[in-house]
Amino acid sequence: MRVHRYGVPGARPKAYFQAALHADEIPGLLVAQHLLRGLGQAQAQGQVIGEVVVVPVANPIGLCQHLNGRLLGRFDLESTGNFNRGFLNLAAGVVERLRGRLSANPVANVTLIRETLRTVLAERQAVRETEALKRALLDLAIDADFVFDLHCDGEALLHLYASQWQRDDAIELGADLGAAVVLLEENPGGQPFDEACIEPWLALRAALGEEGPIPLACFATTVELRGQADVRDEDAAADAAALLRFLQRRGVIAGDPGPLPEPLCEPSPLDGVDVLTAPMAGVLVYRKRLGERVTAGEIVAELVDPLGEPPGAARTPIRSAASGVLFARMTERLARPGQKFCKVAGRESLSHRQAGKLLED
Ligand SMILES: [Zn+2]
Repeated sequence: MRVHRYGVPGARPKAYFQAALHADEIPGLLVAQHLLRGLGQAQAQGQVIGEVVVVPVANPIGLCQHLNGRLLGRFDLESTGNFNRGFLNLAAGVVERLRGRLSANPVANVTLIRETLRTVLAERQAVRETEALKRALLDLAIDADFVFDLHCDGEALLHLYASQWQRDDAIELGADLGAAVVLLEENPGGQPFDEACIEPWLALRAALGEEGPIPLACFATTVELRGQADVRDEDAAADAAALLRFLQRRGVIAGDPGPLPEPLCEPSPLDGVDVLTAPMAGVLVYRKRLGERVTAGEIVAELVDPLGEPPGAARTPIRSAASGVLFARMTERLARPGQKFCKVAGRESLSHRQAGKLLED
């Protein structure tokens, strides 16, 4: 695993980037290249104030998975599941270690918490190859002030996921990136990478908040860089420039980022996203385009049964439960029973969406 480092080790604030944890999500690989070039220039000009760590290829294991000539990312063929789930949960370990040890000084507490996170992580065993990869990635990010996990969806508008406790950071990053959707979550579940980075801070606040001030000292976000085929230098250069401007706004690197662009959207709750599911197999024919607004109850797609009766007329309409924007669709056009195929981001929470189970497989 190649790791690029800028600035003085230990300098603050620290930012961490990784690309293509799901292996077959290529836009992040290109954005990382533009990012590395920009960081190299900043370094040469003495503008790196804090520390920046970049892993431009986060999943060498997944990049080795080919079947019939196709790269298969997302799931580990070794059977450990989704590459972006099941990261180590350090919350309980750090709470136990820090009980009775916090002071009235928030800065000292942050330093102590970061040291403890690293200690607890170092004690965890990782035997299987993919577990070792996940531990190595978390080890690079766990003490960072800012964590950016660069992904993409099948076909999608640029969107990002962040904690609802870090709304302002999410809005500003979304504005710089021109995000069409900003999803705020509380307890998404599944322990993806960004949650693994922020969860210990939230747990410490809940358990030990009365023992001393605990700032939320890590902003961790998953940035979905459009769709899998959206690999263009113009987009990647603009995305990298936006990420660098965010680092300037947060004092990681020097320089004037200019005024913050007007956000393209208000944040939406993750439990307001309707993930449309195919009730049966069929050819998937969309009635709505990516980026189109949908009203609750409207037909988003139809499933055409190629063996249906009467011939040519067996169609099942699939409706959205949310009023909002259609922002992500899968790339395949043949749906299997139970397959989740597109997402509509509404502003209202949906009753069928459950905390702890908000992410797809
Ligand atoms: Zn992904």
